[in-house]
Amino acid sequence: VHTLGIDLGGTYARAAVVDPGGRILASAKTALTDRGPEAVVEAIHQAAEGAITSAGSVTIHGCGVGVAGQLGPNGSVIVGPNLGWRNVPFGALLAARLGRKVRVVNDLAAASWGELNAGAGKGVQDLFVVFVGSGVGSSIISAGRFVRGAAGVAGEFGHIKVVPGGRLCGCGERGCLEAYAGGHNLIAQMQEALQGTEPTRLSTLTGNDPHKLTPVVLEEAAEQGDAVARRIYDAAVGHLSLAIANQLTVLNPARLILGGGVLNRTPGMLKRIREGVSAWTNANARAAVSVVVAELGDDSGLIGAGLLATAE
Ligand SMILES: [Zn+2]
Repeated sequence: VHTLGIDLGGTYARAAVVDPGGRILASAKTALTDRGPEAVVEAIHQAAEGAITSAGSVTIHGCGVGVAGQLGPNGSVIVGPNLGWRNVPFGALLAARLGRKVRVVNDLAAASWGELNAGAGKGVQDLFVVFVGSGVGSSIISAGRFVRGAAGVAGEFGHIKVVPGGRLCGCGERGCLEAYAGGHNLIAQMQEALQGTEPTRLSTLTGNDPHKLTPVVLEEAAEQGDAVARRIYDAAVGHLSLAIANQLTVLNPARLILGGGVLNRTPGMLKRIREGVSAWTNANARAAVSVVVAELGDDSGLIGAGLLATAE
């Protein structure tokens, strides 16, 4: 049984025909020129048609879509920060346009599911997965089962508090890990710094164009010793490392998987998080865990969404 996996980011809609083993048969992507729900649904339809056409004669059962944000019942998107959406009946709109049943899931849940079933988590029973992309998220697998929690929101790692009363987060609360370490917020903090009076290499590296600020630029400036970049970077690395270490001490997993769009592109940050995690995890939990990098790269969400289409 093949399925359609869709990864809806802030700039592209990607679609893939995925086989039951999590392999991509064919894929296509469409740039999002307009972020209104109708236009986005249309872009997804175009990408999906492209993927299905190049996959050839396979039958497709089900469609899974990974979206960044807070999801409501029936595939609605309550808050979609990358697209500027509030209360969009996305699942219903997309199902109508594609003419098939659609399952809408959180993008990080999709990425974790992909890594679990087709990537770095295969065969492991106790697992903690952390993705740092535009947001920060995690999944917990304990004794072979997904930990969902009483309200289904367990593993909301981006919204644990690291600075009481600190920076305002996209979730509306203050001091969340994501407000310091998520890609969106790394960029926001650099933009704020550029408006300040302190000189910084961030302006020379980007030719003073705030649109060119990325986590990769932040790492470059920090590694060159820029004081402004260092503060933002060190705070992100420090908060992430300590938070992950504490989770490992609590959960005692056999494996920690690190991935996501930011960590996939910032080897220095990844290295420092590994060091911080190793230093701050309780010794017994540390001895039991192997720390690995996500294997599916930017395809984890696409594959995971496809596999989730027909999962329980
Ligand atoms: Zn938050």
